[in-house]
Amino acid sequence: MIKLKNINKQFQKNHVLKGIDLDVEKGDVLVIVGPSGSGKTTLLRCINYLERPDEGSITIDGFTVQGKHASKRDVLALRRKTAMVFQHYNLFKNKTVLENVMEGLIVAKKIPKKEAKEIGVSLLEKVGLGEKLNEFPSQLSGGQQQRVGIARALALNPSVILFDEPTSALDPEMVGEVLAIIKQIANEGITMVVVTHEIDFAREVANRVVFMDGGHIIEQGSPEEVLIHPKHERTKRFLKRLV
Ligand code: ADP
Repeated sequence: MIKLKNINKQFQKNHVLKGIDLDVEKGDVLVIVGPSGSGKTTLLRCINYLERPDEGSITIDGFTVQGKHASKRDVLALRRKTAMVFQHYNLFKNKTVLENVMEGLIVAKKIPKKEAKEIGVSLLEKVGLGEKLNEFPSQLSGGQQQRVGIARALALNPSVILFDEPTSALDPEMVGEVLAIIKQIANEGITMVVVTHEIDFAREVANRVVFMDGGHIIEQGSPEEVLIHPKHERTKRFLKRLV
């Protein structure tokens, strides 16, 4: 479903991604873990060209975009194959919950308003927000706002959903409700790439885990291989720090 080849990214002199190769299969729930600053979020944002890689190519669902000078049209076509769930939700503050979910359907997918509304209502019911359709984001808790963010991503029916630390801005008591929804959609076979610090969640929900450090993938494998029986010293050290 996704193929990354030799992804390099530099911010001025800071070489953040150093030749990343990665394959994600259809239906994979791939979780990326690693110390802060290791390049996880930058890698995730390169997958849909929110960050332009300096070098390398990204293929999603058969469509390839290459290098730094890719055309806007190609970038948009690649991006339409993805949906992103952001750390800080990124909802439209002046739109209702339902309008937030309908927006992408109407604008990007050109779906008629009536149909967009039906899809929006059913997805918001799915994430437990059927009672909040006409409220504004500021009237919701952080956990509820993030569930709107997830419904909005699902509405686009993307080839892959990219989650950028979806629970790290939440109060601890709201982390569980958001992880439960992510787990529920993972079980439906949607391809997902998740950057998170929630190691227990990675153990439980991922079918593949990637450990990154210093702009490299240090190791990858099943949750058991990477998180319970890691081979590399750096992975062991990282996991020890967390307990
Ligand atoms: P992680 O997600 O693993 O914490 P990031 O991908 O956020 O790591 O960051 C990796 C490195 O890239 C850090 O040194 C960070 O400061 C730098 N970085 C990330 N985004 C930018 C940016 N837009 N401009 C400059 N430096 C950035």
